[in-house]
Amino acid sequence: MSFVNEKEREQSQIVSGKALDRIAQEELVPTPENYELWYVYYSRSVPEVVRVIDGIVESGQTINDYVCGEIYNRFLSDLRNEEAVRNAGDQVQNAIHNVSGMVEGVKNATKSYGSTLETVTRQIGVAKSQDDLKKAVSVASESTASMIEQNMRLEEMLRESSQIMEELKRDLEHVRREAMTDGLTGLANRKCFDGEMDRVIRDYADRRGVFSILMLDIDYFKSFNDNFGHQVGDQVLRLVARTLKDGLKGKDVAARYGGEEFSIILPDTDLSGAVIVGNALRKAVAGKDVINRSTGKVLGRITLSVGVAEFAGEKTAELLISRADEALYTAKHNGRNQVAAAPSKG
Ligand code: GH3
Ligand code: MG
Ligand code: MG
Repeated sequence: MSFVNEKEREQSQIVSGKALDRIAQEELVPTPENYELWYVYYSRSVPEVVRVIDGIVESGQTINDYVCGEIYNRFLSDLRNEEAVRNAGDQVQNAIHNVSGMVEGVKNATKSYGSTLETVTRQIGVAKSQDDLKKAVSVASESTASMIEQNMRLEEMLRESSQIMEELKRDLEHVRREAMTDGLTGLANRKCFDGEMDRVIRDYADRRGVFSILMLDIDYFKSFNDNFGHQVGDQVLRLVARTLKDGLKGKDVAARYGGEEFSIILPDTDLSGAVIVGNALRKAVAGKDVINRSTGKVLGRITLSVGVAEFAGEKTAELLISRADEALYTAKHNGRNQVAAAPSKG
């Protein structure tokens, strides 16, 4: 961070102090993310963050690490990715600038090398003595050596640049993957799911195939959280995510839709097939003990309610999701820990 003047430095220290005080006051874990969040809040640099935090305080909700994490993920992690992409762009620009400068230099050097050789050839032609010849040859070999060196430098620079490009490619790939992944569970995130839904709907509308989606929601998760705390709650989310991943095939897409809700796309699967998959996943989750990592104590089991809908030519993802959501609501209403199917249309 560069400070334009002393005043900005002071301002930044004040903001930093406030951020640290607030982290202590709310008894948050002093992670870089929490620091960044509160720094942003007190510097008022991202208005949405200020609005959301003020809203939470006004409504009397507690501010804890989980809430901070959600706000960070929603508003700040994307900014960080954008910055990484911007930095990558700058680095590419620099590399291109350096290489083209060097190429220009070598071009000029080659030109002057050419005229040096011409002069030397002429001198050799008119050389009167052994000494004249020697001088001419030594001029030629000096400028040849410098030419070779220049070329080597250019090669080296090109090698470095292509290495930088390679690294940037990897970084960008990483950023792209991160932007599509839910940080807590490692599943696809909502953004990725929305993109996949649009793609699949377009694809299947064209070829009149069949696919289904599942909406899955953890039952009574709030009380699990309230009893055992958010960290155990997070552990449960990871357990469910892992169980879903293990129970699905390669083509299926499982995502964290939000909070304690998950969504799955099952390509080439009709309603009855999707109900079977839904039940298998539901049973797999219900069969696992949630264990407190630090004490080893079994805390209990969790269940899922699942809504299933088969694609019925919906024009938008929302329309299909809302049918699956209604089925999920039915599953909850009928007592939870069960799968309900959306009635087929028409
Ligand atoms: P239902 O059976 O009707 O689904 O009840 P529920 O308690 O699961 O549903 P509700 O929507 O009332 O509560 C969901 C709770 O999930 C609210 C919030 O405390 C918790 N939650 C959402 N996302 C996360 C998360 O990422 N981590 C943790 N630890 N808790 C979360
Ligand atoms: Mg829910
Ligand atoms: Mg729930």
